Amino acid sequence: MAGQRFVAAYRNILNPKPVKPPFLHVCQVGDPVLRSVAEPVEVEHLNCPELKQIILQMKQVMKRYDSVGLAAPQIGIPLRILLLEFKPERKEEFGADIYATREMSPLPLTVLINPKMDVVDYNKVEFPESCESVRGFSALVPRYKSVSLSGVDQNGEPVKLQGKGWLARMIQHEMDHLDGKLYIDCMTAKTFQNDAWHRINVHQGRVKIEFHKK
Ligand SMILES: [Zn+2]
Repeated sequence: MAGQRFVAAYRNILNPKPVKPPFLHVCQVGDPVLRSVAEPVEVEHLNCPELKQIILQMKQVMKRYDSVGLAAPQIGIPLRILLLEFKPERKEEFGADIYATREMSPLPLTVLINPKMDVVDYNKVEFPESCESVRGFSALVPRYKSVSLSGVDQNGEPVKLQGKGWLARMIQHEMDHLDGKLYIDCMTAKTFQNDAWHRINVHQGRVKIEFHKK
Protein backbone atom coordinates (compact mmCIF):
# COMPACT_ATOMS: atom_id res chain seq x y z
CA MET A 1 0.00 0.00 0.00
CA ALA A 2 2.75 2.37 1.01
CA GLY A 3 4.38 1.69 -2.34
CA GLN A 4 1.18 2.55 -4.20
CA ARG A 5 0.74 5.75 -2.23
CA PHE A 6 4.32 6.68 -3.03
CA VAL A 7 3.70 6.13 -6.74
CA ALA A 8 0.43 8.12 -6.60
CA ALA A 9 2.07 11.02 -4.79
CA TYR A 10 4.99 11.23 -7.16
CA ARG A 11 3.24 10.20 -10.37
CA ASN A 12 4.06 13.45 -12.12
CA ILE A 13 7.73 13.14 -11.29
CA LEU A 14 8.02 9.42 -12.08
CA ASN A 15 5.94 9.65 -15.25
CA PRO A 16 6.02 13.26 -16.40
CA LYS A 17 3.11 14.17 -18.67
CA PRO A 18 4.17 14.05 -22.31
CA VAL A 19 4.47 17.63 -23.47
CA LYS A 20 3.36 18.40 -27.00
CA PRO A 21 4.51 21.22 -29.25
CA PRO A 22 4.27 24.17 -29.48
CA PHE A 23 6.78 24.16 -26.63
CA LEU A 24 7.75 26.98 -24.31
CA HIS A 25 11.37 25.89 -24.51
CA VAL A 26 13.72 25.73 -27.51
CA CYS A 27 14.38 22.32 -29.17
CA GLN A 28 18.04 21.33 -29.32
CA VAL A 29 20.25 20.04 -32.15
CA GLY A 30 19.56 16.34 -32.71
CA ASP A 31 15.78 16.86 -32.57
CA PRO A 32 14.49 15.74 -36.00
CA VAL A 33 12.12 18.76 -36.15
CA LEU A 34 15.20 20.98 -36.61
CA ARG A 35 16.25 18.94 -39.64
CA SER A 36 12.89 18.79 -41.41
CA VAL A 37 11.86 21.12 -44.22
CA ALA A 38 8.99 23.13 -42.73
CA GLU A 39 5.62 23.21 -44.52
CA PRO A 40 4.02 26.44 -45.77
CA VAL A 41 1.04 27.76 -43.80
CA GLU A 42 -2.20 27.48 -45.77
CA VAL A 43 -3.72 30.95 -46.26
CA GLU A 44 -7.10 29.77 -44.94
CA HIS A 45 -5.41 28.76 -41.67
CA LEU A 46 -4.23 32.30 -40.89
CA ASN A 47 -7.16 32.92 -38.58
CA CYS A 48 -7.06 29.54 -36.82
CA PRO A 49 -6.72 29.74 -33.04
CA GLU A 50 -3.98 27.06 -33.25
CA LEU A 51 -1.88 29.30 -35.50
CA LYS A 52 -2.46 32.32 -33.26
CA GLN A 53 -1.36 30.19 -30.29
CA ILE A 54 1.85 29.12 -32.09
CA ILE A 55 2.75 32.75 -32.85
CA LEU A 56 1.89 33.82 -29.30
CA GLN A 57 4.15 31.12 -27.88
CA MET A 58 6.94 32.03 -30.31
CA LYS A 59 6.74 35.60 -28.96
CA GLN A 60 6.85 34.30 -25.39
CA VAL A 61 9.88 32.11 -26.12
CA MET A 62 11.70 35.00 -27.91
CA LYS A 63 11.16 37.16 -24.84
CA ARG A 64 12.09 34.43 -22.38
CA TYR A 65 15.35 33.60 -24.20
CA ASP A 66 15.99 37.26 -25.11
CA SER A 67 16.68 36.21 -28.71
CA VAL A 68 16.72 38.24 -31.91
CA GLY A 69 15.02 35.60 -34.03
CA LEU A 70 13.02 32.40 -33.75
CA ALA A 71 11.68 29.93 -36.30
CA ALA A 72 8.61 27.77 -35.57
CA PRO A 73 10.58 24.47 -35.85
CA GLN A 74 12.59 25.63 -32.82
CA ILE A 75 9.48 25.23 -30.65
CA GLY A 76 8.64 21.92 -32.33
CA ILE A 77 6.32 23.19 -35.08
CA PRO A 78 7.46 22.38 -38.65
CA LEU A 79 5.73 25.38 -40.27
CA ARG A 80 7.23 28.27 -42.26
CA ILE A 81 6.87 30.99 -39.63
CA LEU A 82 9.64 33.17 -38.26
CA LEU A 83 9.99 36.09 -35.88
CA LEU A 84 12.69 38.76 -35.96
CA GLU A 85 13.39 41.58 -33.53
CA PHE A 86 16.40 43.77 -32.82
CA LYS A 87 15.72 46.08 -29.90
CA PRO A 88 17.38 49.52 -29.78
CA GLU A 89 18.88 48.58 -26.36
CA ARG A 90 21.14 46.05 -28.14
CA LYS A 91 23.43 48.97 -29.05
CA GLU A 92 24.38 49.34 -25.39
CA GLU A 93 24.56 45.58 -24.92
CA PHE A 94 27.00 45.01 -27.81
CA GLY A 95 28.81 48.34 -27.47
CA ALA A 96 29.08 51.05 -30.11
CA ASP A 97 32.12 49.52 -31.86
CA ILE A 98 30.66 46.04 -32.44
CA TYR A 99 27.29 47.60 -33.30
CA ALA A 100 28.93 49.64 -36.06
CA THR A 101 31.36 46.95 -37.31
CA ARG A 102 28.65 44.32 -37.65
CA GLU A 103 26.25 46.86 -39.21
CA MET A 104 23.53 46.31 -36.64
CA SER A 105 20.28 48.27 -36.83
CA PRO A 106 17.03 48.16 -34.84
CA LEU A 107 14.03 46.19 -36.06
CA PRO A 108 10.64 46.07 -34.29
CA LEU A 109 9.17 42.63 -33.65
CA THR A 110 8.23 41.28 -37.08
CA VAL A 111 6.23 38.13 -37.83
CA LEU A 112 6.76 36.52 -41.23
CA ILE A 113 4.68 33.66 -42.55
CA ASN A 114 5.78 31.77 -45.68
CA PRO A 115 8.79 34.08 -46.15
CA LYS A 116 10.81 34.12 -49.38
CA MET A 117 14.37 35.40 -49.45
CA ASP A 118 16.33 36.93 -52.33
CA VAL A 119 20.04 37.61 -52.18
CA VAL A 120 20.81 41.26 -53.02
CA ASP A 121 24.59 41.22 -52.47
CA TYR A 122 26.35 37.86 -52.91
CA ASN A 123 29.52 39.07 -51.16
CA LYS A 124 29.92 37.34 -47.82
CA VAL A 125 31.03 38.63 -44.45
CA GLU A 126 32.08 36.54 -41.45
CA PHE A 127 31.00 37.28 -37.86
CA PRO A 128 30.28 35.23 -34.72
CA GLU A 129 26.87 33.60 -34.62
CA SER A 130 25.02 31.42 -32.14
CA CYS A 131 21.68 29.68 -31.97
CA GLU A 132 19.29 28.87 -29.12
CA SER A 133 19.02 25.37 -30.63
CA VAL A 134 22.79 24.83 -30.23
CA ARG A 135 22.80 26.41 -26.81
CA GLY A 136 26.10 27.35 -25.23
CA PHE A 137 28.20 27.42 -28.41
CA SER A 138 29.13 29.86 -31.18
CA ALA A 139 31.24 30.08 -34.35
CA LEU A 140 32.17 32.41 -37.15
CA VAL A 141 29.68 32.08 -40.00
CA PRO A 142 30.00 33.60 -43.47
CA ARG A 143 26.72 35.17 -44.66
CA TYR A 144 25.58 37.21 -47.67
CA LYS A 145 25.89 40.95 -47.05
CA SER A 146 22.42 41.92 -48.17
CA VAL A 147 19.13 40.10 -48.72
CA SER A 148 15.46 40.95 -49.07
CA LEU A 149 12.64 39.06 -47.45
CA SER A 150 8.94 39.04 -48.22
CA GLY A 151 6.00 37.20 -46.73
CA VAL A 152 2.78 37.92 -44.89
CA ASP A 153 2.12 38.80 -41.27
CA GLN A 154 -0.38 37.03 -39.00
CA ASN A 155 -3.25 39.06 -40.54
CA GLY A 156 -2.24 38.07 -44.06
CA GLU A 157 -0.86 41.55 -44.81
CA PRO A 158 2.26 41.63 -47.01
CA VAL A 159 5.58 42.27 -45.24
CA LYS A 160 8.81 43.16 -47.02
CA LEU A 161 12.19 43.66 -45.39
CA GLN A 162 15.46 44.91 -46.84
CA GLY A 163 18.15 43.27 -44.77
CA LYS A 164 21.67 44.63 -44.74
CA GLY A 165 24.52 43.75 -42.39
CA TRP A 166 23.37 42.07 -39.18
CA LEU A 167 19.73 41.94 -40.23
CA ALA A 168 20.78 40.09 -43.40
CA ARG A 169 22.55 37.57 -41.13
CA MET A 170 19.51 37.18 -38.86
CA ILE A 171 17.27 36.60 -41.89
CA GLN A 172 19.61 33.96 -43.42
CA HIS A 173 19.92 32.18 -40.05
CA GLU A 174 16.14 31.98 -39.53
CA MET A 175 15.43 31.06 -43.18
CA ASP A 176 17.88 28.17 -42.81
CA HIS A 177 15.82 26.87 -39.85
CA LEU A 178 12.79 26.59 -42.16
CA ASP A 179 14.83 24.34 -44.47
CA GLY A 180 16.18 22.10 -41.73
CA LYS A 181 19.60 23.77 -41.67
CA LEU A 182 21.62 25.05 -38.73
CA TYR A 183 24.55 27.48 -38.65
CA ILE A 184 26.85 24.56 -37.78
CA ASP A 185 26.33 23.33 -41.38
CA CYS A 186 27.94 26.44 -42.89
CA MET A 187 30.20 27.73 -40.08
CA THR A 188 33.96 28.02 -40.28
CA ALA A 189 34.36 24.76 -38.36
CA LYS A 190 37.63 25.54 -36.60
CA THR A 191 36.07 28.58 -34.89
CA PHE A 192 33.32 26.52 -33.20
CA GLN A 193 33.55 27.12 -29.47
CA ASN A 194 31.88 26.47 -26.16
CA ASP A 195 31.17 30.02 -24.99
CA ALA A 196 31.86 29.02 -21.37
CA TRP A 197 35.30 27.50 -22.05
CA HIS A 198 37.08 30.11 -19.96
CA ARG A 199 34.57 29.98 -17.06
CA ILE A 200 34.84 26.17 -17.14
CA ASN A 201 38.57 26.49 -16.39
CA VAL A 202 38.06 29.17 -13.71
CA HIS A 203 35.37 27.09 -11.94
CA GLN A 204 37.14 23.75 -12.46
CA GLY A 205 34.36 22.40 -14.66
CA ARG A 206 31.47 23.42 -12.37
CA VAL A 207 29.50 25.25 -15.06
CA LYS A 208 26.03 24.36 -16.38
CA ILE A 209 24.37 25.06 -19.70
CA GLU A 210 20.72 25.85 -18.87
CA PHE A 211 18.07 24.76 -21.38
CA HIS A 212 15.21 26.25 -19.42
CA LYS A 213 14.53 29.95 -19.02
CA LYS A 214 11.92 31.50 -16.73
ZN1 LIG B 1 18.88 29.45 -34.63
